[in-house]
Amino acid sequence: MATTAVLRSVQLPDPMVYRPPEPDPGCAVCAELQRLIDLHGDPHGDSYDPSKAIDHRIALARHKAGKGAE
Ligand SMILES: [Zn+2]
Repeated sequence: MATTAVLRSVQLPDPMVYRPPEPDPGCAVCAELQRLIDLHGDPHGDSYDPSKAIDHRIALARHKAGKGAE
């Protein structure tokens, strides 16, 4: 049906392909969040924990989006 065709044409962003926000140079909060993302996002590291890495990515996105608003 037409509805199926429309739904199939919509590409939802894949969380694994989604590009995280870039940390702002010189911002200590961004740097710390990025450090945690790298720490928990490194599959070869002892602290590898993808769900924590995603949590920190969300925190970084919120931190950047909420600048001056919260
Ligand atoms: Zn920042």
